[in-house]
Amino acid sequence: MKPFIESDYQVVRGIPTPDANFGVFHIHTVDSDGKGTGIQFAKRASLLGIQTIVFLDHNNGRAYKDAAAVGGGINPSVIVIPGREVNSLDGHIGSVGTEEDIPVDLPAEETNRIINESGGSAVALHLGDKATDSISLDTVRRVNSNPDPMTHFSFIEGNNAATLKVEKAVALPVLGLIVRLSPRGRKVDFASKKANKFMDEEGATYDVKQLDGSDAHYWKDFADVVTGYPAGEGFLNAALSGKTWTLVKKRMYYPSLREFQKQKRLLEIRKVNPPVV
Ligand SMILES: [Zn+2]
Ligand SMILES: [Zn+2]
Repeated sequence: MKPFIESDYQVVRGIPTPDANFGVFHIHTVDSDGKGTGIQFAKRASLLGIQTIVFLDHNNGRAYKDAAAVGGGINPSVIVIPGREVNSLDGHIGSVGTEEDIPVDLPAEETNRIINESGGSAVALHLGDKATDSISLDTVRRVNSNPDPMTHFSFIEGNNAATLKVEKAVALPVLGLIVRLSPRGRKVDFASKKANKFMDEEGATYDVKQLDGSDAHYWKDFADVVTGYPAGEGFLNAALSGKTWTLVKKRMYYPSLREFQKQKRLLEIRKVNPPVV
């Protein structure tokens, strides 16, 4: 397998350091709606030269336990950070750096409090993407204006590969017109541009940093978005101090119609027979 090559990517945010490590944030495994086990993704990371991975399965963190257990057995070993994607009443929230079970369907402030009190960090996922159950910009403004910092988001996910792919397709003249005229297309509004602009103009005001994600569901889209961080520092600490940079693959993976249908069938099977939470 071809290792991860930096020239295949475009740095869209942050300043790379000469001595770099790389992480992939926001991966879905068979423990939610992804394809591939936690161990398979950890092995892929090792083969590609990715040092850190964060799984964000919907409302469970089982992949972490499986993959972290073998991390040390993989050569070179891959650091696995615990994480999950939590359904809140305000949209999807990433819980990173804690194994805590987070209850679903709470207001964002309450979800974040449980995450922060357990030593983790809360991420506003696929910020502002109206086609998904994302956190809105106004929710981040509301939540991070709360006088209690334990209710706050630490991060926004401004560049999410799945969102970027839809936006790239919509930027094409003919395809864009079709997508925009379709019912779901009305929700396409270039969320990443707005999220990145929010970060530039209001990131300091609301004291949030950026943590971008691949939103990978498949081994082929695993590293469509990669986060660089200085060697010798931990992935999360570097992110919390704003020292990371974001690399977006120039040729991201788009599933063929056949693969798309195969994945859809797989998801339908899993809906009938969901993994135990
Ligand atoms: Zn989500
Ligand atoms: Zn997700």
